[in-house]
Amino acid sequence: MERKITGYLQDQEAHWVAELECGHRQHVRHDPPWINREWVTTAQGRAAALGSYLDCKACNLAPPP
Ligand SMILES: [Zn+2]
Repeated sequence: MERKITGYLQDQEAHWVAELECGHRQHVRHDPPWINREWVTTAQGRAAALGSYLDCKACNLAPPP
């Protein structure tokens, strides 16, 4: 389910986690060559991605009412 990114935080391993409008959190790793999300590595890139949509896996498993 597509959800807007409303903010970010970092986990214990310094990986970036996006906070979504639905209240779920989802890792947004930059892990080339499998996952290319270079934007997440810079403050500018993260700011630019605020308000963009991410497929929320938690909502896909258990859609809200
Ligand atoms: Zn969600």
